[in-house]
Amino acid sequence: MHLTQEYKKMLAPEETIRFLQELVQIPSINGQEEAIGLYLHDFFQKHGWESTVYEVEPHRPAVVALLHGKHPGKTVMFTTHYDTHVVDNMEIPPFTPDIRDFLLYGRGSCDAKGSIAAMIMSALLLWRSGEDFSGTLMLAFVPDEEYLNKGTTWLMEHGITADLAVVGEPTRMDVGFGHRGCTHLDVITKGKAYHSAYPERGVNAIEKMASVITHLRNDFFPHYENRTHPFLGHPVINLGIITGGTRIHTVADSCTASFLRRDLPGETTKQILAEIQEYIDSLKTEDPGLQAEVKLSTIQQRIRLPYFIAPDHPLVQAMAESFRHVTGKEGRKSVMNYYCDASILCTEHGIPTIIFGPGDIHVAHSSLEYIDIRELCDAAYIYADFALSQLISSAAPEEKEKTL
Ligand SMILES: [Zn+2]
Repeated sequence: MHLTQEYKKMLAPEETIRFLQELVQIPSINGQEEAIGLYLHDFFQKHGWESTVYEVEPHRPAVVALLHGKHPGKTVMFTTHYDTHVVDNMEIPPFTPDIRDFLLYGRGSCDAKGSIAAMIMSALLLWRSGEDFSGTLMLAFVPDEEYLNKGTTWLMEHGITADLAVVGEPTRMDVGFGHRGCTHLDVITKGKAYHSAYPERGVNAIEKMASVITHLRNDFFPHYENRTHPFLGHPVINLGIITGGTRIHTVADSCTASFLRRDLPGETTKQILAEIQEYIDSLKTEDPGLQAEVKLSTIQQRIRLPYFIAPDHPLVQAMAESFRHVTGKEGRKSVMNYYCDASILCTEHGIPTIIFGPGDIHVAHSSLEYIDIRELCDAAYIYADFALSQLISSAAPEEKEKTL
């Protein structure tokens, strides 16, 4: 079933805008998510929805609301995060959601409170409609997506699950069906410390590193380009940090180069590290004394796996169809350049998942974060249409063929 004009009237666009303004006014920088979590819990309870606050960490709640249909059926999860990026150096007041030229400004407006507002308003529309649906619409909002993804990890580990999920991240209303994973890895070279007056008697780990990096960059990393995925491209790797030596008058005895690699589905951490180590070991034919190893970085506190479902997967199609139904434009499908909780839901826990939300990732985390309110308001109707398509078609596919 799709959203009818009659249903659309049950939610004014201004309501969605006002709700987002309220959310932006509640600061929720990563680590300070309690106020917004309790605000949402209160909102859910006022509507008589079943709502639970889960303590992911002290003062860092996740909030999950459930809207039950009258019949058993599948659980559709709408989820995203309410923690935001920091507000240092913002060019606008971060928590004063002014609107100028259809753009609503403020920290989190795009990433990801716009999605939260649109998801909740879609649930409100469904609830107001009194529609007789099957299954459950689950609204799950979490802390700590921006840093260690603790919120979604916690929900999954505590059995808060669903049959399918939509992750609300700024996709500019494209239906997201994949992203690469991330591996943080360190290459470490070892040398021998010696007085700087006799550098030839020591082994300089920094110079060894310079050679290893040059070899990797010229001979090894280009091979990644041969390993392409039809949608996600090929793995890429960036050298982000290099540290070595202890003082200027000593030959450096250790050097560490830290890389961030973007991985494809099917690649494993073990394989990624093993093939780099194998290449580094091969350099010993030219330099028998070379001591170098690669390992998972201490910066990486969790494995971030790639996420991918087929672009013709029924859920991708359904959301594209909901987009078309509400906006009259063809739904776009694409892969994302950023990692998000879809990986935890889908890759780690097997829940078919898509990414969809209003807002542009290029202004997320920026000094001038904003969201286009026309996109925001459309998103509420699109989520509602998608929920109806999932919760009603599963019960009675033959009846209720209503259209706009
Ligand atoms: Zn986000």
